[in-house]
Amino acid sequence: MMNSHIKLKILVIGESGVGKSSLMLRFTDDKFDANEQPTIGVDFKVKHLELDGEKIYLQIWDTAGQERFRTLIPSYYRDATGAILVYDVTKTSSFQKLETWLEELETNTNQNITKMIVGNKIDLKDERRVDREMGKKFAKQQRALFVETSAASNINVQMAFEELVKKILEDNIFDDR
Ligand code: GDP
Ligand code: MG
Repeated sequence: MMNSHIKLKILVIGESGVGKSSLMLRFTDDKFDANEQPTIGVDFKVKHLELDGEKIYLQIWDTAGQERFRTLIPSYYRDATGAILVYDVTKTSSFQKLETWLEELETNTNQNITKMIVGNKIDLKDERRVDREMGKKFAKQQRALFVETSAASNINVQMAFEELVKKILEDNIFDDR
């Protein structure tokens, strides 16, 4: 049936400082706060979307500082249908660490979770260390969607979340539809 609500849980994962909280804040509230302090603990934000005639209740889970401990609590991963893996295009190490985050994701989620790799901070043109092709190639190897963003300059943020949701809807059959 059309027009029922589909509830989706999305995870935003990646090294500390890559801009996970900033991307979420930009997407949910269309804001950017350069002074926002990371909080410890798992937190989520809610956004209502209407895509392809479907009403979607989106729960976006932030790691909120937990990534410092190199591992996330199991309940974070529970029932997740999609994951955004973020790196900072100005920090090669954050790109290299994606492999570790992907391994942890695969260990903690049993179903084939829909993945998107996001290279953030493309507004910092002079500081770029990871080129677009590298990110794109890696995402292809991982069978993940790929997009480069700037939470600060509001580039591709809305589009990234929406593309992921569309792919999740393609990849899954939802009982309440
Ligand atoms: P998190 O630890 O992954 O949640 O990262 P934050 O969202 O807290 O961002 C870390 C730092 O990077 C903060 O100082 C943000 O203001 C900054 N930041 C986040 N996104 C961008 C971006 O797109 N461009 C620039 N220039 N800075 C950003
Ligand atoms: Mg954060």
